[in-house]
Amino acid sequence: MKNFDPKYNDIPKTEIHCHLEGSIRTQTIIDIARQYNLILPSYEARELDRHVKVYDQLRDLQAVLDAFAIFQNSITSPAVFERIAWELFEDCSRQNIKLFEVRFSPDWAFHGHGVDWDSCLEGLLTAKERAEYQFDMVIGIIAITSRGMGPESCIKTVDWAIRHKQHILAVDLADGEMLYPMNNFVKPILKAKDAGLKVTIHTGEDTPASAVRDTILAFQPDRIGHGIHSIEDMSVIELIKERNITLEVNPWSNYLTNSVPIIEEHPLKKLFDLGVRVTINSDDPEVLETNVNNEYRIAHEVLGMSMDDIAVCNRYAFESSFIEDAAKQRIWDKYFEPVS
Ligand SMILES: [Zn+2]
Repeated sequence: MKNFDPKYNDIPKTEIHCHLEGSIRTQTIIDIARQYNLILPSYEARELDRHVKVYDQLRDLQAVLDAFAIFQNSITSPAVFERIAWELFEDCSRQNIKLFEVRFSPDWAFHGHGVDWDSCLEGLLTAKERAEYQFDMVIGIIAITSRGMGPESCIKTVDWAIRHKQHILAVDLADGEMLYPMNNFVKPILKAKDAGLKVTIHTGEDTPASAVRDTILAFQPDRIGHGIHSIEDMSVIELIKERNITLEVNPWSNYLTNSVPIIEEHPLKKLFDLGVRVTINSDDPEVLETNVNNEYRIAHEVLGMSMDDIAVCNRYAFESSFIEDAAKQRIWDKYFEPVS
């Protein structure tokens, strides 16, 4: 559930793992559908929520895929993409998120309606610049290559990201780690790295610690999305620490996808106590009906992390953020340093 308790809402926050495609407001989906004559199961927000939100662990996989199909089908034009981005940044500012990295998979998001990638990036940049100015925050952009879209898509996405590297900070390999072996993706991801882009990889979400180890050895990532199953093997924990890799953890998402069957048993605090650089994020705030405040509430009230521990996670996010040093330092000094 989205949380606006002042205890969490008032403190300045970071978020470095958030998918733009999982962050579209329900009312916006309806507005877009009306404008572009799209078919929806309902045109009433509360009713549509039942189709586009995952509230509990018991929803079957098909229901989750159906929800994402509606999100995907909503991305109909660069103007729509700009609107979605702007609304996400607005939602960030409502929670006092001051340092934010947004990620999206251009091939997955744009291929349905054949929307032009460059025009969408321009829309996103317009929203970003406006939000940075209006909300006094700093925003970074990550391009995702989705394993499910295949190796050709990975090559295309990496080349596109390299072409726009003045605006795109990093690439992320996401989606279906169990279904799609990593081998086909290593070469393009390393090409991105060679070109100066940062690398983060979704791994160890629903895969074991060995997958995290294989990922680290093959890709040498700067950060890892999730990585929670590394807790099962201390040698992997040591490897993560040795390589100074930051984990982008998303507690409620891990529970809803059943990667962690019981929320009380989420390893966030254990990883933190072991000295792993963990950060706290929301993943897909609209699909999962969560926000960073809620993730902090879980960390504090369910998992027993102190508010000081959480402030340390913010520092980890700041330090590992791909955003340019001067820009993130200004925000850090202004909003975070006095309270930490
Ligand atoms: Zn993710």
